[in-house]
Amino acid sequence: MMDMVLRLGAGVRVATDVTGVLRAAVDSLVPEVGDLAVALARRPGDRDLVEAAHGNPARQEQVREAVERLAPELSAAGRQHAKNGDRRWMWVPNTQSYSMRRLTGGHPALEELLETLGIRSLIVVGLGRKTDPFGALAVARTSEGSPFHASEFAVVRVLAHRTTLALNAAQLHDLVLDADATQARFDQALSKWTQVFNLASWGAAVVGGEDRRIDAVNPAFARLHGYPDPEQLLGRCFTDFLPPGAEDETVRWPSDATRLPDAYESEHRRAGGTVFPALTNVTALSGDQPTFIVTVQDLGPLKRAEERLQRAQRMEAVGRLAGGVAHEVNNMMTIILGFSDLLSRSPELPAPLQRDVDEIQKAATRAGHITRQLLAYSRRQVLEPTVLDLDLVVEEMTRALRPLLPVHTRVEARPGAGGTRVRADRAQLEQVVINLAFNARDAMPRGGQITIGTGVRQLDERLGREKIGIPIVPGSYICFEVRDTGMGISEEVRDHLFEPFFTTKDAGHGTGLGLATVYGIVKQSGGYVWADANPGGGTTFTVCLPEVALEEDASAETAADASHSRPGETVLVVEDEEGVRELAARILRDEGYHVMEARTGREAMEALDHVDRLDLVLMDLVMPDMGGSEARDHILKRRPDVAVLYMSGYPKDDVLQRPHIEGGDPFLAKPFTREGLTERVREILDAPRLS
Ligand code: ADP
Repeated sequence: MMDMVLRLGAGVRVATDVTGVLRAAVDSLVPEVGDLAVALARRPGDRDLVEAAHGNPARQEQVREAVERLAPELSAAGRQHAKNGDRRWMWVPNTQSYSMRRLTGGHPALEELLETLGIRSLIVVGLGRKTDPFGALAVARTSEGSPFHASEFAVVRVLAHRTTLALNAAQLHDLVLDADATQARFDQALSKWTQVFNLASWGAAVVGGEDRRIDAVNPAFARLHGYPDPEQLLGRCFTDFLPPGAEDETVRWPSDATRLPDAYESEHRRAGGTVFPALTNVTALSGDQPTFIVTVQDLGPLKRAEERLQRAQRMEAVGRLAGGVAHEVNNMMTIILGFSDLLSRSPELPAPLQRDVDEIQKAATRAGHITRQLLAYSRRQVLEPTVLDLDLVVEEMTRALRPLLPVHTRVEARPGAGGTRVRADRAQLEQVVINLAFNARDAMPRGGQITIGTGVRQLDERLGREKIGIPIVPGSYICFEVRDTGMGISEEVRDHLFEPFFTTKDAGHGTGLGLATVYGIVKQSGGYVWADANPGGGTTFTVCLPEVALEEDASAETAADASHSRPGETVLVVEDEEGVRELAARILRDEGYHVMEARTGREAMEALDHVDRLDLVLMDLVMPDMGGSEARDHILKRRPDVAVLYMSGYPKDDVLQRPHIEGGDPFLAKPFTREGLTERVREILDAPRLS
């Protein structure tokens, strides 16, 4: 028998988990001891574990399921058995001669189970200690007349004891495995949070004790405060990172962990002594000693972006004001310039007065120049955009600039846009290049190098925020850079560069309108401009204009052919500003044209009824009753062959909403000179027309 005991227990001893032990126990009993064996282990708070073995392996699973289903009843019967003072085992050599009620504890379902399984002889032994039972091991025989003997009962009891020991060991083993899994999960979580701490872009510190000393900091906190190594900061007082003389902000920290985190703005000090704006957030941790989690964010970039946005908004406001004033002054200048011109041509003008008139003209020309720049800045010019090859424009401009620059100032073109096109007003674009190049020249009083390069760039919103301060339309842009080797620009100057009348030059040398003009022209052309200080000294201005699809072709510029009127040529001047209208009419009459005048679009329509021949309508873009383009449409309906020349300089709504006149309609900028007007009129009348 001893042999048998050793053999049966072998499988149980090597199993390491609870299921394995139960499995080994039932397998060692079938078919050696009985033809049916079941092991059941109760698991508090979990499913009962049941393993079964059957002489007919096909029925094994059926037995297991039946027992598993009845596990609660089986346990209850076992408990009842123990309560009745019975031992924790049961040996029933012949079930037929045994009280079924006693056997099943009065559970009909168990009675049915025994019936179904056809059990004739049965041994049941409890598993676990008497004080802590946790299951049972049962073995049965189903054939008539083969009862279990005492020796077999003894063997099963020994096996149950071994199974109990093995189950205890397996449970311990499971606990160890559970502990290992918990430890692994904990390690994983810890590693994740350590990475969050170490890789975060915000500075974080654990600060403890009454004197607020640093227990731990992340690399971002060290970097933010100008230290390469976080270790250097351990043990330092938090107040070491505040500027000298600043209030000790740690006194504001929350006194207990139940209060919401405090966030406040203050200034922090870097290792080198510079100060930066910071947003600090403090949370108290509960414990005996006060401990705080402090996160610090650098508000510098945000503040700078805010300032840039405010500056851009200020520029808009100044632009509106400047544009409004310039428009009024511009009209006056047109009149002053025009009439003084007429006066100076008058043969009756006494010679001594000629000089006075010259002075009036000079002043008016200067004033006209300034108002034009202001109109450009406020983006209220009428542009005549054409499709241009930026590389060509830059190369031509570089050639044109060379003789205008001092001998020690070299200028070089570096085309790199590969023939890509932009849509811009050529004359205005040239003005931009000239203004930037002359500023570069002024920044290099002892000479130097100006390089004008072009290229294609992808602009994104981040660049817009950083360089210009406003959100930009992302996409592909054709850009040119004017780079100099001059004195460079300070951050402070850069903040004001494009403001009208901002100049660092001596009185008489700078008007502060050059870059304001550049800004207006570039913006009106849908582009962006910004300045950078070069790392090695000098400044680079970058202008980016939206790329144009290749199909659009550059339109040819026609040369003006100035000459007088042809006999009978009739011009209708439509202008609500009396002085300007009279001036234009008078100049044209002097040139021999037949001139009619109208104050409004409606009057112009009426005038059409009274003329047989009409060659040209010289018309203001914005008029009180109907816009210039609307009047044009009405006129062309009745006189399809008539040419239209707009006068511009008006900053009113029509121009603002439609700053580019349609279909390449020609225009004349105010203030205009006598030559400007007559040449433009002649040029249009001589141009071939569709009709
Ligand atoms: P102005 O040339 O009449 O002063 P601008 O609007 O053209 O007016 O320029 C404004 C100011 O911007 C200049 O006075 C100068 O301080 C600065 N600036 C412009 N271009 C440069 C440059 N290339 N290098 C250094 N400073 C510049």
